[in-house]
Amino acid sequence: MKKAKIAVIGSSSMDLVVTSSKRPGPGETVLGNSFKTVPGGKGANQAVAAARLGAEVYMIGCVGDDAHGEEVMHNFKRNGVHTDYVEPVTGVETGTAHIILADGDNSIVVVKGANDCTTPAYVEKTKSFLETCDLIMIQQEVPEETVAYTASLCKEIGVPLLLNPAPARRISKEIIEQAAYITPNEHEAAILFDGAHLTDALQEYPNKVMITEGALGVRYFDGEEEVLVPSYKVTALDTTGAGDTFNAAFGTAIAEGKQMNECLRFANRAASLSVTGFGAQGGMPYRNEVERWFT
Ligand code: ATP
Repeated sequence: MKKAKIAVIGSSSMDLVVTSSKRPGPGETVLGNSFKTVPGGKGANQAVAAARLGAEVYMIGCVGDDAHGEEVMHNFKRNGVHTDYVEPVTGVETGTAHIILADGDNSIVVVKGANDCTTPAYVEKTKSFLETCDLIMIQQEVPEETVAYTASLCKEIGVPLLLNPAPARRISKEIIEQAAYITPNEHEAAILFDGAHLTDALQEYPNKVMITEGALGVRYFDGEEEVLVPSYKVTALDTTGAGDTFNAAFGTAIAEGKQMNECLRFANRAASLSVTGFGAQGGMPYRNEVERWFT
């Protein structure tokens, strides 16, 4: 089978995770129980997941010239993601997410850092490479104008764009028209379509808008009727990164030339398997695990 060649334009970060029995209030210092660093960022997560699922993946984005940036690069290499188009930016810090897990809930401060350096001009430099890809994937942790530029570029060079509109923000109708596939969860869909009835939004964009609905699966309009492709019953340990795995698997299958319904079933399989493991990247399955699990 042909290997899918995918470019992921997106964010990379280090997640700095502290567990504590108490969340500090304003001006308060508390003792934590544990600390760990884990690579994250929606772009990086989707790139790693797609590589594990058998795609030839090129990350396009920026890290800082610091220790976190080096670790992010090592992590890409460990997972077989090509880093030819990842630039360490001098004098800028790598993106970070500062996470406190306390009282069964989390508080998160995100510092975008070098992810803001993934500008339209940065993407434009890779244009001749992007023309050789089967699919381009992007999320919304890079500047808004980069998403707009990438959508118009994809239209110009004739390479399909998979837009995962997360985190949620409203985008122009032009971008929606230019993207080949858009994959909001229910919350993101409500913001994207500004309160319109989601059934109407699905019907307006047949075979383009896919709304993920957690354990239920994914919904789209196939041109004749609304279809719910169900997910699989699993014991969910940690749903972090389910959406990233879903997008990576859907993109990989699309880039391999598979039919829409088959792509969505494959995406549900990979994503449901991902929630049975801990952490975003920790739970992301390899191709043979997805195939073995369902044969
Ligand atoms: P997250 O932000 O947690 O990464 P998301 O909100 O972007 O996820 P969801 O709609 O929650 O996206 O989940 C994406 C896909 O993951 C679903 O369409 C489904 O295939 C799978 N999934 C998520 N949760 C479960 C679950 N509990 N059991 C089985 N599959 C699940």
